[in-house]
Amino acid sequence: MGVDFGVPSSVPRAKGSKFPETSCRVRWRIALGWALLVGSGAAAAEAALCQHGHRQSPVDIVAPVRARLAPLEFDYRSALLTIANDGHTARVRTGNSSRLKVGRETWTLQQFHFHTPGGDRLAGEEFPMAAHLLHKGRSGQLLALVVWFRLGAENPALKALLPHIPANADGDHRIAGAVADPNALLPARKTYYRYDGSLTASPCTEGVTWLVMQQALELSPEQLQVWRTRFADNIRPPQPLHGRVVHESW
Ligand SMILES: [Zn+2]
Repeated sequence: MGVDFGVPSSVPRAKGSKFPETSCRVRWRIALGWALLVGSGAAAAEAALCQHGHRQSPVDIVAPVRARLAPLEFDYRSALLTIANDGHTARVRTGNSSRLKVGRETWTLQQFHFHTPGGDRLAGEEFPMAAHLLHKGRSGQLLALVVWFRLGAENPALKALLPHIPANADGDHRIAGAVADPNALLPARKTYYRYDGSLTASPCTEGVTWLVMQQALELSPEQLQVWRTRFADNIRPPQPLHGRVVHESW
């Protein structure tokens, strides 16, 4: 469906105007009005999806159903560290060399970032932090892989990243001599939950595959404190399941 931002043919023209530019101004004003109208319609549709969508993320995982889910075959590679502070979180771009195979589908890791608190919950339990590893499929579909953190020992992957978070929200920084290894964000056990979800921020687009690793990593209270000095809480609360089933691999 196309959207025509042109002026409708019924727009009155200022015939015989002493100031030919007036008709032009009228046309532009009306065109702008239409653009704003169409724009606000799109914004309203977004807001409606965020508020009333039935397949939104994150969720509280209660009563997951055991299923023979395809094993996760990770082929993650280290890449030169490219990190950004986007004002809400630290985001690491991973190039296009890391892949995740799930059954017949191959997904390419695009970036990972962090949330406090952890977003997706387990039977009501909230985790202090989570990593979201975002993947793209061949036809552009999205897959989010969630890794929870609970308080405990110092986390080596975070230890390597925290000092490199840029002070300002000013785009990607390539850090000379530093590498990002997404493997370091994976727990040893590769069992997971799976559900149909969405982007967690506007436009809240649905149709995103969510995989949540069952085993959590640890981070130290000091590391969480360092993060909190940089970023405010940045995740929406769990969204209703609306009849969705969360599957659990085993
Ligand atoms: Zn996220």
